[in-house]
This record gives sequence, structure tokens and C-alpha cells, in this order.
Amino acid sequence: MERTFAMIKPDAVERGLAGKILSRIEGEGFRVVAMRLVKMTKAQAEGFYAVHCERPFFGPLTAYMSSGRTIVLALERESAIKHWRDVMGATDPAKAAPGTLRKEFGESIERNATHGSDAPGTAAFELGYWFPGVSLHGA
Ligand code: UDP
Ligand code: MG
Repeated sequence: MERTFAMIKPDAVERGLAGKILSRIEGEGFRVVAMRLVKMTKAQAEGFYAVHCERPFFGPLTAYMSSGRTIVLALERESAIKHWRDVMGATDPAKAAPGTLRKEFGESIERNATHGSDAPGTAAFELGYWFPGVSLHGA
């Protein structure tokens, strides 16, 4: 069993899509290990996305991520990291495959409905960032 970190981003929470996305999470066989509704500060968003601090989209991205309520999740499943990335689809909804969450719900490359860790190292960091004590492989 592996864990990953997921978010339902402000654009999706705002449009009332949290229930549909949580239903998909359950339907894909994930166990919700932890879940919280957060209105993150700009500083929290900057810390979370620190890996992107040199990118041109960093300012707008962290402004958007701190603009509304987000649902942060720790999810557990076999191959959780890869499976959740597959369920989300490509970063740009316009390029995401049919049936993926970003294709179905994303509004733009920035407002793309969901987040998922991309590797074990980032999953460990991101899980701990929002859920102190929750690790990649837990009991
Ligand atoms: N993003 C953006 N413009 C870009 C690329 C990314 O606004 O050109 C945003 C988008 O919300 C994305 C997040 O920054 O989900 C993190 O980017 P990353 O490349 O890590 O994509 P992800 O791992 O979320 O697919
Ligand atoms: Mg990423």
C-alpha cells in the first residue's frame, strides 16, 4: 500500500464539484486517510509550490491557490501516486484524455481542478506539509 497527496483545488470547490470528485476517489478504490478543508495563505501556497518558485506562473498560481477553499487529502491504494495521476490526467485540461478529472472539470492549465503528487519524494513532502505525522507508507 502506498499513499499520495491530493487536493481539490479552489476552482472545483467553488463550483460545487467536491462531492463528484470525492465519489470518483472512492470509486477508484482509494481509502481516504485524512481530509481537511483549508483556505491557505499566500505563504502556505508558496511553501507548498516552492519547487516552482522560478517559474513564470508561480505568482498567479499561488494567488489562485490562496484565493478560495481547497480540500486537502491523504489517499491510500496500491500504486496510489501513479493511479491518482492517471485519474487526474494531463496538467492542461485541453490535453487531458477523455474520462480524466482534469478533462471533465478543469477550466484552464492553471484552474485544473485537482492536484496530485508526482513521485514518492514529493508525496512524502506534500503529505507531511498538510498532515504532520502522515507518511508515505503508514499503518
Ligand atoms: N500551472 C500553471 N501554468 C503552467 C503550468 C502549471 O498555472 O504553465 C499550474 C497548474 O495549476 C499546475 C500547477 O501549476 O497544476 C503545478 O504545475 P505542475 O507542472 O507541477 O503540474 P501538475 O503536477 O499539477 O500536473
Ligand atoms: Mg506537479
